Amino acid sequence: MRYLDRIVVVTGGSRGIGEGIVRAFVREGAHVVAVSTDRAGGDALAAALGPTCRHVHADVRRDEDLAALFADVVATHGRLDCLVNNAGTHLAHRAIDDITPGAFRDLLDLNLVSQFMACRLALPHLRQVQGCIINMASLVATLGQHHAVDYVASKGAIVAFSRALAIDEARHGVRVNSVSPGNIDTPLWQSFADASADPDAMRRGGETSQWLPRLGTADEVGRLCVYLAADATYTTGVDHVISGGAEIGYGTKPIS
Ligand code: NAD
Repeated sequence: MRYLDRIVVVTGGSRGIGEGIVRAFVREGAHVVAVSTDRAGGDALAAALGPTCRHVHADVRRDEDLAALFADVVATHGRLDCLVNNAGTHLAHRAIDDITPGAFRDLLDLNLVSQFMACRLALPHLRQVQGCIINMASLVATLGQHHAVDYVASKGAIVAFSRALAIDEARHGVRVNSVSPGNIDTPLWQSFADASADPDAMRRGGETSQWLPRLGTADEVGRLCVYLAADATYTTGVDHVISGGAEIGYGTKPIS
C-alpha cells in the first residue's frame, strides 16, 4: 500500500501499458481514474478492479474533454496526486514523403499536445499536494527509428518537455519525469506484428532486440510508474528507460 488513498489519473488507461499502470496503482491503494476513448475496454477494466478504479471516457486531443476530466476528478476526490500521460499511438512506418503535414500535426496533437494540455490543467491541483507527473515517451526518442519521423519527433519532444517542466515546477514541489519503454507486449505492439508479413518472425525479432530476451510487460512499466510516484521522491527531470537492455551493445542480442 505504497500510494494509499492518493488520487491518480492515467490516460490511455483501458489496455496495454496504461492498463498495467492502472492495475499497479490500484494494488498500492490508490484511487485511479483511467481515461480513454475505449468505452467498453475501460469500463470492463474498472468493473474488474472494483471501487478504487473508475473509467472516464475522454479524448485527450480535445481540450474540453480534458478540462471536464480534471474538474470532475477534483470535484469527486478533492485532490490530485499523480498524472500519468500515457495515451498515444504509433502509426504505420513510412518515409517522410508519405507523411502528409496534416497527419504529422495530428500525431503531435495526440502524442504531445495532449500531454501539454493535461499538465497545464492538472498543475494547479498537483502544486497543492506536491504531486507528480509521469509522461510516457519511448526509447526511440533517443535511438531514432526507421520510417517513423512523426512518432520519434513526438516522443523526443516529450522527453525535452518533461525536463523543462521539471525545472519550472521544482519550486512548487511538483516532480516531472518521463518513462521511455522499449518493446512492451501490448495490443499496439501486437498489431504491428499482425500487420507484418511474418508475425511470428517479427515477435522473435522483438524478443531478441534486448539482452533480457523477451518483450517487457505492461505490469513492469506500471511498477516503474509506482516507484516514480511513491518512492523516487528526490528524482525529477529524468527520462527512465525500461527496455530490457535494448540500447546497450550492438545489434541483435544472442539468447544464451
Ligand atoms: P495501446 O494502443 O495498446 O493502448 C493505447 C491506449 O490509449 C488505449 O487505452 C486507448 O484507448 C488510449 N487512447 C488512444 N487514443 C486516445 C485518445 N485520443 N484519447 C484518450 N485515450 C486514447 O498502446 P500501448 O502500446 O499500451 O502504448 C501506450 C503508450 O506507450 C503510448 O504513448 C506509446 O507511444 C508508448 N510506448 C509503447 C511501447 C510499446 O512497445 N508498446 C513502446 C514505447 C512507448
